[in-house]
Amino acid sequence: IKYEENLIPYTREQLVGKVQEKLDDKRFQHCLRVEQQAIELAKENDYDVEKAAIAGLLHDYAKQRSDHDFIKVINDKQMNPVLLDYGNAIWHGVVGAEFIKDELQIFDEEILNAVRRHTVGAPYMTQLDQIVYMADYIEPGRDFPGVDEARQITHENLKKGVFFQTQQTLKHLVETAKPIYPGTITTYNAWQSAI
Ligand code: GDP
Ligand code: FE
Ligand code: FE
Ligand code: FE
Repeated sequence: IKYEENLIPYTREQLVGKVQEKLDDKRFQHCLRVEQQAIELAKENDYDVEKAAIAGLLHDYAKQRSDHDFIKVINDKQMNPVLLDYGNAIWHGVVGAEFIKDELQIFDEEILNAVRRHTVGAPYMTQLDQIVYMADYIEPGRDFPGVDEARQITHENLKKGVFFQTQQTLKHLVETAKPIYPGTITTYNAWQSAI
C-alpha cells in the first residue's frame, strides 16, 4: 500500500520494515495494534486516517534505544536539561521524535508532535495527538484495571478519554511512588479545566 499524500518517503510496507528493524517482536506487535487502533479512532472522529496510521505505527520507534543514546541526543541538541532527571519512559516520546527525523527523514511536525506527546500529553493537543495518546492506551493488547472503562469513554468522547488517561496515569504514578515529569502535571491541570 502506498500512502496517498507525500507525508513520508516510504510505502506502508517500507515503514513497517523500518519500525520492525528497531524493536523486538513484542513491541513491534504493539506498534501494529496502535496503528490499527489509531485508524479506528480517526474514523470515529473524522480525522485523516493515513496520518493517524503513520503516527500510531511510529509512536514507540525509539522505545528500545539505550539511555546513553538518549542522553547524547538531549545534550547534542541542547534539549531541556530537566529531561536528564527522567528516563526511558519519558525520553522515548519527547526525545524519540528526534530519531524519527534523523534516521527516517520524516519531518511532518504534526506526526512528530504526536510522537513527542504520546506519553505525557500536553496542555494543548491536536486531534492527532489525542488519537495517538488514546490508541496507545486502549489498543486491544492492553490489559490493566480500568482499560475497559477507558475504551468506553474514549469511543464516546475522545477528549474525555484523554483526561481519563491522564488522571489514571497520575494516580498510578503516585501510588507506585514514581517521579512525576512536570509535563504530566501540566497536562493534568490543563485537561481538568477543558473537560
Ligand atoms: P508504552 O511506551 O506503550 O509502554 O506507553 P507510554 O509511552 O504511554 O508510557 C510509558 C511509561 O511511562 C508508562 O509506564 C507510563 O506510566 C509512564 N509515565 C507516564 N508519565 C510519566 C511520568 O510523569 N513519570 C514517570 N516516571 N513515568 C511516566
Ligand atoms: Fe510509548
Ligand atoms: Fe501512552
Ligand atoms: Fe506505546
